[in-house]
Amino acid sequence: NAKKASKSSVQFYSQALKDASQRIIELESALQTAITNHEFELFLQPMLDLTSGTILKAEALLRWNRLDGERIGPDEFIPIAEQTGLIVPIGKWVISRACEMISTLNHRGHSCKLSVNLSPRQISDRHLLEFIRGSIQNSHIQPDQLELELTEGVLVDNYDKVQYLLTEVRKLGVSVSIDDFGTGYSSLSYLKKLPIDHIKIDRSFVQDLVSDENDKAIILAIIAMAHSLKLNVIAEGVETELQRNFLQLNHCNLAQGYLFSRPLPFAQFCDYLNTTVSSQKQITPSALDPK
Ligand code: C2E
Ligand code: MG
Ligand code: MG
Ligand code: MG
Repeated sequence: NAKKASKSSVQFYSQALKDASQRIIELESALQTAITNHEFELFLQPMLDLTSGTILKAEALLRWNRLDGERIGPDEFIPIAEQTGLIVPIGKWVISRACEMISTLNHRGHSCKLSVNLSPRQISDRHLLEFIRGSIQNSHIQPDQLELELTEGVLVDNYDKVQYLLTEVRKLGVSVSIDDFGTGYSSLSYLKKLPIDHIKIDRSFVQDLVSDENDKAIILAIIAMAHSLKLNVIAEGVETELQRNFLQLNHCNLAQGYLFSRPLPFAQFCDYLNTTVSSQKQITPSALDPK
């Protein structure tokens, strides 16, 4: 009987594996044509300055709306795009679309920065730097309106390439954030060697912050360390007023999370900015367009 049960569970798992690999194969091939079919969309999630309450920037988060109506989250398709190398053209699309959005926002009188996520394969792309430079020029935005987010893992695995890339993007005026900080198993020495501007505290530390003394201690330590290294701190995944209050009281600079807004389609993000516009710093559109 036990033999029988284990045999059927083997069959069950092998069927599950088959389904999973079938799904990956299907997504892989669908990803090939996703850009030309206009299936991608960039959502924006605001980040608030905890001192002034203003929206200084937003994170660009990729969404895949398949032609058949299925919506697939980045946690499922980014790893596939990364493995197949498709992340390189997809990542370029993200960068140029983000620059276009910044430009549109500027023309509507909003001075807002956008950050884009970079994955490891993109760092190895020799043309990335030129592409970033070109996208900034084509959209006539200020270089410091674009930011890049890299995880600790990306930094450490490609150290030499990253050092070159970050030094060069810094010269352009683009700034750099460490994403999901605290979840990588890396030494902290890169923090003093690489030109980094911001640290984003991973959502997992923020989640139970109010009840978990260890999470509190870790967050306080990250903020203190970041500030003594002259880095800004952004808390990810802020969902409650209690979390926000704790972070504000302890001098965390910015916060991002469902408490303020979920990631929004561009039009809704513009509405969101307009409803909070009274507290926003206004710029004149005419001052921006060099043409
Ligand atoms: P990430 O860069 O750490 O992005 C933050 C994720 O946390 C987003 O998930 C966001 O929707 C989610 N989030 C924000 N606030 C809250 C909150 O209060 N509660 C909860 N539960 N979640 C919150 P999303 O959009 O599903 O993206 C997942 C990951 O996919 C991103 O993590 C990033 O690593 C990757 N990703 C997304 N877009 C891109 C892209 O254009 N390029 C690359 N290479 N990776 C991307
Ligand atoms: Mg990110
Ligand atoms: Mg993150
Ligand atoms: Mg993450």
